[in-house]
Order: sequence, then C-alpha cells, then structure tokens
Amino acid sequence: MAVCDVCFRKCELAEGNTGACNARIGRGGTVVPLFYGKLSSLALDPIEKKPLARFHPGSRILSAGSLGCSLKCPFCQNHEIAQADDGRRFHVPTEQIMPEELVEIAERYRNRGNIGIAFTYNEPLVGYEYVRDTARLAHEKGLLCVLVTNGTAGTRVYEEIAPYIDAMNIDLKGFTDRYYRDVLKGDRGMVMEFIRNAVRNCHVELTTLVVPGENDSPEEMLELSGWVAGLTGVFGGKTGRDIPLHISRFFPRYRMTDREPTDVDTVYSLVEIAGRNLRYVYPGNC
Ligand code: SF4
Repeated sequence: MAVCDVCFRKCELAEGNTGACNARIGRGGTVVPLFYGKLSSLALDPIEKKPLARFHPGSRILSAGSLGCSLKCPFCQNHEIAQADDGRRFHVPTEQIMPEELVEIAERYRNRGNIGIAFTYNEPLVGYEYVRDTARLAHEKGLLCVLVTNGTAGTRVYEEIAPYIDAMNIDLKGFTDRYYRDVLKGDRGMVMEFIRNAVRNCHVELTTLVVPGENDSPEEMLELSGWVAGLTGVFGGKTGRDIPLHISRFFPRYRMTDREPTDVDTVYSLVEIAGRNLRYVYPGNC
C-alpha cells in the first residue's frame, strides 16, 4: 500500500487504485500522477481572467488544464474536467502535450502578448509533477509561470513547485472549518498554511466565491480579510494589506442548484467590508 502525501487526505492506494482526486494512482509501490501531460484545455487568456489584477495587467497567458481535483465543491464551474462521474471516470477528450511541447507553444505565442504559462482550470497540484517540470523548462526560456490553485497541498509539494512559480491565485473559499470540511470536503488549515508559504515566495492574489447562506456573512468576511492583512514576510517588501482579494459571485451549477446566484449588492457590501482591512479588493462575476 502506498500513501499519497500531496493533500490532507493521505490516500492509501493499493496497486491500480486511484485517490479521491481521481488523478493519482498506486503503481509499483508508489503513487504517481494519472494524467501527466494530458491536457483537457488550452487557451491564450487575458491575465485578468485567472484572476490576477496586479500582475502584468493587459498581458495574456497560455493557460493549460488537465483533469481532477482534491476538493469536492458541489458548485464546481469546471466539473467536467475537475470531478469524475460516479464511476470515477472523466468524459472529456484530452491531448498529450509534454512539457517541452507546451513551452514551445508558449514561446510561439509571445508575439500575441503571451508572457508565459498558467496552470489552471482543474486543480493543477494533483498533477504537480507536470507543473514542476513544465515551469522549470519555461523559466529556462524566460517565460513566467502562474498557478491557479485551491491551495490544498502540503509543504513538500509546495517546495517542489515554488522555485518556478512567479504568481499564484489561491482560493480562500471561506473562513470556517465547517464550510471547508462539510461542503467542500477540504481542510482549511492546509489552505491557510499554503497561503502563508506562498505569499513569502511570489506575487499572490486570493479569491473567495461567495455562496448564499454558506460564507456570505459580514463577520466572516471581516475575519477572513483581517487574517490576510495580518500575513507577514510578504514577497516584494509588501504587507498583508497589499494582497489583492477577489470576491466573486456564485451561480448555481453542478450539484448546487438549490439557491439563487449571489445578490450583486451582497458582493459589493462584502467588498466594502474587506476593504477595511485590505487595499485591493475586486468584485468578480458581477
Ligand atoms: S492528491 Fe489525490 S491521491 Fe493524493 S492524498 Fe489528495 S486526494 Fe488522495
């Protein structure tokens, strides 16, 4: 039995068994990624779409996604590529693009405003080996690398990728253990530790999706933004107050269709509240 140490679940995997993320498999007494180089999505996106508001604004970035996720958010907007069906299978086509080839494509797009490669769409860290290998090569070619992640990974994984990542958008999906544990099937403590590490190493922006009745109270947003403001040792000589926060509107999707989209006034009110602690707070999906 091999144990995966990528996320808090620490899945114990017998030969041929896949973990809860459906993206890692027990093989030869160890745990390996199931979809190395298998891309489900590839697009040249505006950097603001990641979202990153304060990292090379106006540029574009080659954005690559694969399959699988370490969380089980019932409202997942990308569930076709992030969440397998009940038989633990994905039903989207993938294309095999190894690190060298992805870096070549990124270089070809430089003349269309491309600054590098973003690992995004599904949860990239369930296949962190591909992120690490590709980002290392991309750096050698002078390209920038961006990670869009739910922050659900341990310190070993973080340290493997950190040297090659220039900016991250990390989800901080709420600020209660209940919400992370019961609704997202995640671990808030692991995400907070990931954020603490990341802000010291590169440009970091955070995203909170506001779900009605779950994480939309003024008190929770005050607490969340206050914690961010108190982060220390921030990259670039900045303070926690300089970390941008994106507060996004929820739309009913996937398995959470029992409630209305977040009221726009609620989003703007939470932006105002977070703005008491942070300098840069942006509404999203409004
Ligand atoms: S990354 Fe996947 S296999 Fe590894 S512990 Fe997390 S859910 Fe389990």
